Amino acid sequence: MENLSDKQNLFLYYLVKRLGFKQDSILAAYLENTANHVDFINHISHQNKHDKYNVIDFVLEDLDFKKSNSNFVPKKQNKGLAAFNATDLAAFTFCAASYSISKTYESKETKLMSIGTQLHDKNVLIDIFNKKGSSTDNLVHNESFIDAQNSFFFEELKNSKLIFAGHSESKRECFVNEFDSFAGQPDYVSQNNKNRNFIIEEKYRSHHKSELNSYYDSHVIQLLSYIYKLVNFEAEYGYLVYWYYAEDLTIRKCKVLKVVKSLENKTKLDDVVNQVQEFNNNLKIRFDTTKLNPSKCFRCSNKLYCGHMTGKFDSISLPYERKYSQLNYVEFPSELVKGKPQPTQMESNIKRHTIDDNEILNNLGW
Ligand code: SF4
Repeated sequence: MENLSDKQNLFLYYLVKRLGFKQDSILAAYLENTANHVDFINHISHQNKHDKYNVIDFVLEDLDFKKSNSNFVPKKQNKGLAAFNATDLAAFTFCAASYSISKTYESKETKLMSIGTQLHDKNVLIDIFNKKGSSTDNLVHNESFIDAQNSFFFEELKNSKLIFAGHSESKRECFVNEFDSFAGQPDYVSQNNKNRNFIIEEKYRSHHKSELNSYYDSHVIQLLSYIYKLVNFEAEYGYLVYWYYAEDLTIRKCKVLKVVKSLENKTKLDDVVNQVQEFNNNLKIRFDTTKLNPSKCFRCSNKLYCGHMTGKFDSISLPYERKYSQLNYVEFPSELVKGKPQPTQMESNIKRHTIDDNEILNNLGW
């Protein structure tokens, strides 16, 4: 591993084995992804030369979290009218283990969530609705994120009427479709100049990801669930809006995907709903370890709770069992014991940063 001594490498492999990685290929991919992100973490954390993180710090952070039972706080059971909601469908689409974790444990508000809330509260779209009198040319002039790819969307906003804004303080209500036992709260519902309703779902991503063209399936499913399941709005289509922000939290770029009602999209949504219902009923689901994607795990907000990223388990329970995240016993390398320092001393002597994992995850793009 780059910039690590032989002894540090030995220690690193000891640590990742404790996490439970058994297959060398998954372990190697995990380390490769860890190494890829360390520079970036240093960058966003503004560490000076002597305080920079290295791969060992990062793995230790994971181990420390998993060691402590106090991090695994059982989630209060939701006794609402709906069996599932849009966020459940999105989480399940991203990863079934992530869905199970989010149903089982109270997760702390991540830096990502906190940045998302801050940016939501800037109400960029509401400002644009309020500038309805402006021509798109004026908007383009005033709003640097409007470009050739997304101007159709802003043009439509200009000619639309906002009928619901889900994250304004006064309207935090959740909509329930009792027939389908579904609940959800879209970001915005608007009505176009032909009196047809459409949904807008916003997501925030760091600017360095702005060259990527892909939209997450999980976000598309979330939007589809609002379009099809929130029958009270009778929405005919929706927009998935990705805002890309810089380190100073200014919006630098915007990408927009139009999502329409179609047989293909309906089938896609029904498929996810059926799988979630099946998992909720059976409380067990198969986990295909051959589809593990360490790069995705690094974007996952539940990574610290997760034992499935190691490839050790081929099924997932609901609720998520604590045993999945327990550490393996691994003999401490004798080469590191010889002549001291002893293991515990060595672990405590490694630089301990208070890495905000969520800041990391945020900047990794989820
Ligand atoms: S860390 Fe990976 S395997 Fe675990 S829940 Fe997240 S995406 Fe799924």
